Amino acid sequence: MLPRRTTRQIHVGAVPVGGGAPIAIQSMTSTYTHDVDATVRQIRQLAEAGCDIVRVAVPDKRDTAALPAILEQSPVPIVADVHFHFQRALESVEAGVHKIRLNPGNISDRKQVDRVIAACRDRGIPIRVGVNEGSVVERKDKDVRAAQQAGIATDRRSELIRLMVEAVEGYVRLFDENDFHDVVLSAKSIDAGMVIDAYRAIADRFDLPLHLGLTHAGPPETGRIRSIAALGSLLAMGIGDTIRISYAADPVLEVEDAKELLCSLGLRNRVEPELIACPTCGRIEIDLIKLVAEVRQKLASIKTPVKVAVMGCVVNGPGEAEGADVAVFAGKGRGIIYVQGEQKRTVDEADMLDALYEESVAFAERVERGEVKLSQHNVNIVPPDPLPRKDGSIPLPVANA
Ligand code: SF4
Repeated sequence: MLPRRTTRQIHVGAVPVGGGAPIAIQSMTSTYTHDVDATVRQIRQLAEAGCDIVRVAVPDKRDTAALPAILEQSPVPIVADVHFHFQRALESVEAGVHKIRLNPGNISDRKQVDRVIAACRDRGIPIRVGVNEGSVVERKDKDVRAAQQAGIATDRRSELIRLMVEAVEGYVRLFDENDFHDVVLSAKSIDAGMVIDAYRAIADRFDLPLHLGLTHAGPPETGRIRSIAALGSLLAMGIGDTIRISYAADPVLEVEDAKELLCSLGLRNRVEPELIACPTCGRIEIDLIKLVAEVRQKLASIKTPVKVAVMGCVVNGPGEAEGADVAVFAGKGRGIIYVQGEQKRTVDEADMLDALYEESVAFAERVERGEVKLSQHNVNIVPPDPLPRKDGSIPLPVANA
């Protein structure tokens, strides 16, 4: 397991954050919060996908008025996202939310922020202070704004990071003055490099838990790369206690990708099948890309973390699929299925999907009955002889893929 930075621990409802707790996955609903049915439906979808904590926007009084009904039906803790109106924060606290996300920078009256902090303290509710690249430049004081903008014009990246870290420092001071310590920090930007540098600077200064994320990252096709570059780098350095991958898309995708990121880094145990597939090359003799997509879809119904491999040849495939519980090695129009290193059957290409699925289900059931254990990288697959082609010729062994 990657080493983790030591932080204080807070609790968002029943979910511990920081202090060595598993990294929590967060997402945010895209519904109008006052539409209780739609919001609860989406919260349940997110929870079902593996989301630990869900944030909802509460721009209006009718949104905070909907919170009690939402909280009653939500399977996971709820965070109220508050901008500009401190009353929404107080109403959310009153409704019993599990955390408040606040941007004190856009609640101008210090007394109002103090009231929110006092209300959270009384209820034992933590606050996340979220600083965004877009909200750190001074809005009111024209001279300060001009100086900051001059700095940004000279060195945009360094100046924005400096402003974000400075803003976080100011907010932490404010919380300290209120003797309030149930705090989570975040500093988001669209720029993956800036996110990495800003969080590293904040992690050096404070032992408070950090919520990692990018802001306005875009659609999954591009946002995914930015997010994984930034969050993956920080997590690999041991930084980060909760994460949100944010896309301009269905938030369930955010949760699926966050889960895959944590599993890939060994920071979360898989609970569902892991699919590995060869990258394909000129040796391939079946429509492997189509098969992989179909297998992925079918495996979604299995709730045991079996490792399934779909490989394009019998020569290098076995080495590349090492550790797979169930694997198919394809030749021309046919494939050999292995279960934990043992040859089970040879099937035609047309039957490969069903046969692989059947073997995967049967294996998962045996794991659940305690008859076998997941291989966890310990399966040694001895390469079979190359499958003869239909014309009887034998494909040549290949030493290196
Ligand atoms: S050598 Fe075989 S297993 Fe490796 S990429 Fe090519 S077809 Fe796939």
